[in-house]
Amino acid sequence: MRVAVTTGPNRVEIVERPAPVAGEGQVLVRVECVGVCGTDAHIWAGEYPASSLPLVQGHEITGWAGGERVVVEPAFSCGRCHACRSGRANACARSAVLGVHLDGALAESVVVPAAHAHPAPGLSATTAAVVEPAAIALQAVERSLAPAEAFALVLGCGPIGLLATRALADRGARVAALDRDPTRAERARRFGAEFTAPVDGRPDSRQRAALAEWAGGEGPSVVVEATGAPAALATALDLVVSAGRVVTVGISAAEARLPMNLLPYKELDLVGSRNSRALFPAAIDFVRRHRALAEDLVTHRLPLARTAEAFALAHHGDAAVGKILIEVP
Ligand SMILES: [Zn+2]
Ligand SMILES: [Zn+2]
Repeated sequence: MRVAVTTGPNRVEIVERPAPVAGEGQVLVRVECVGVCGTDAHIWAGEYPASSLPLVQGHEITGWAGGERVVVEPAFSCGRCHACRSGRANACARSAVLGVHLDGALAESVVVPAAHAHPAPGLSATTAAVVEPAAIALQAVERSLAPAEAFALVLGCGPIGLLATRALADRGARVAALDRDPTRAERARRFGAEFTAPVDGRPDSRQRAALAEWAGGEGPSVVVEATGAPAALATALDLVVSAGRVVTVGISAAEARLPMNLLPYKELDLVGSRNSRALFPAAIDFVRRHRALAEDLVTHRLPLARTAEAFALAHHGDAAVGKILIEVP
């Protein structure tokens, strides 16, 4: 079978490998398409220390197994560490993710534990490809504990930010979304945001006043940070109300600088969100309810042979790039 191997920074080779064979408790998934996200772009560029190259990337996996379309939950946990013993295997200290730590799905087929292949009846290959990022967004929204009627702010209108916007709105929260690109920020309205604005770095005083006014005079009580940019974390902690909650789901290796008095003075809850905790069935249901939005997220499709181009496109971070799919057959 054909496999796309990331052999070194910015280098992908298409090679022939023997097809894998499913063992006890495993299923063979015939891969249809693989979504590309920021993590993939960082791995490809050699900027993701947890991944060692050569590696077969691909963790947002849609395919066929046992005569039905499935989406694959790509994260494995050890079952023994503190997180696992606390029922939070999604944050396992020895978490291993297909396509990130282990060889993934940029191949004609992949073998996975049967319990990780979730049937996605009624979803097209395109919409099914949005399930994995939707699970990430749902996890961030669960971590936000946003009550109905809360004023929630989402920073970053990439796929995760947009899906989190919709999931917060589904919970009954009222959502504002900011992005440095005006077109991307505006796109959040389709996903349920009432207030959107282009903000590059920190919002100016006029933007702060407009946001506070929208949010009942005080500001958002919940913020989901979906960019991974230090300026966005600073903005989140700055804009959130006293006793509010900030969830960071955007990942980067950049270092943030914060005044030490900020968290205690406002008594903020600052929490991270990692992978997703048993949320694949909920994510499948979420995508089924929001099919048109899922279709809307997918902006590019490239064949397996053009995997390197797909990673380069994701790495460039152009505002017109939403979800990129690599189509395998
Ligand atoms: Zn991803
Ligand atoms: Zn563990």
